[in-house]
Amino acid sequence: MADEPLNIAQAQAVIAGRSSLLPAETRPIDEALGLVLAEQVIASGDVPSCANSAMDGFAVQAGEAGRTLTVIGESRAGQPADVAVGAGEAIRISTGAVMPEGADAVAPIELADDQGESVRLLEEFESGRNVRLAGEDLRAGDAVLAPGRVLGPAGLGIAVAAGRAELQCVRRARVAVVATGDELREPGAELAPGELHNSNLTTLQALVRAGGGEVVLASHVGDDADATARCLAAALEQADVVVCSGGVSVGPHDHVKGALTELGVEQHFWRVALRPGRPTWFGSRGAKLVFGLPGNPVSAMVTFLLFVAPALRAIEGRPQQPTTSVKLGEPIARHSGRDECVRVRLEGGEAFATGPQGSHILSSMTLADALAVIPRGEGSLAAGSQIELLPLQP
Ligand code: AMP
Ligand code: MG
Repeated sequence: MADEPLNIAQAQAVIAGRSSLLPAETRPIDEALGLVLAEQVIASGDVPSCANSAMDGFAVQAGEAGRTLTVIGESRAGQPADVAVGAGEAIRISTGAVMPEGADAVAPIELADDQGESVRLLEEFESGRNVRLAGEDLRAGDAVLAPGRVLGPAGLGIAVAAGRAELQCVRRARVAVVATGDELREPGAELAPGELHNSNLTTLQALVRAGGGEVVLASHVGDDADATARCLAAALEQADVVVCSGGVSVGPHDHVKGALTELGVEQHFWRVALRPGRPTWFGSRGAKLVFGLPGNPVSAMVTFLLFVAPALRAIEGRPQQPTTSVKLGEPIARHSGRDECVRVRLEGGEAFATGPQGSHILSSMTLADALAVIPRGEGSLAAGSQIELLPLQP
């Protein structure tokens, strides 16, 4: 049937087909954690730059045990000795300090009898013992990090070791979050009958940040066509991705779809054969992606995790999360026409539903360890069935 709603994978494929990589920008290295590298990092010099000591002790010439050597100077980290080591001589040396000329081994403190002016070596030391060579970690000109890599602590550190202070990275997605609804009030506000606190604006911003995006606008707009259009126009102006909650159903007070059409956003789908989250809307204007998520708090979270989070990964160049699977610990009733994202807790390697699964029951989410996809069908899915799991971390 032509107007059959897409399934989850089909909807994700439509979104992936509209997701293009964001431009790269130069970032100070301390602001690049979690970003995707957009260039090749080459070592500017050898690391370590010179041969240096792996131990605190005495830089000496290789030789037999029992030698007593005259201590002629010191090589400290950052302050090399200015004399060379001859036979019968030693230089006091710290870990990481430059090996003095003439020396080719280090006798650690523990294997030396330190007498101040002289030192007696308790063991034989062969050439190279306790010496780290120049370039042992990186050689000048080595390719250290490749484009496409997600920058973690070690990657940032090695880029610094390679001589860099800034890196070309794919920029973070700029995301506008808009919550619609006349009934919504600020966190902490007194509620009149029929009103509720605007939890989605907080949850969705948190999901954007946890999912690697930058929130550039967070607005609440009432159920008014003009106000909705103005708000979404501002969102489209500033953001790469607009995430809207509520107002995407067919009621007389649902203005999001109309406003987006008026603003030149092309609709790619509306409705997914999914529970919760059926009225999910997706469109784009140029490279900008627009998501109209349903207003119920669980629906908004589930559809963010299923559709917005992978889009943020795609446009920021980050890999998608691997899918995992688990056994059901109890039978779960199936929906005949829609795949269901059931909130589950994991216990002993099996998944159990977190109690009532209504799309307004946000506690079903807070009790959960993951989302389980229960494919549509008749009757129940039996305990022991293998099901797909989605992480709650975007
Ligand atoms: P809607 O998709 O606009 O029809 O909203 C569906 C239901 O979700 C509403 O009746 C509200 O109970 C709830 N809802 C909508 N927006 C929010 C929000 N921002 N925060 C919490 N609940 C919401
Ligand atoms: Mg509404």
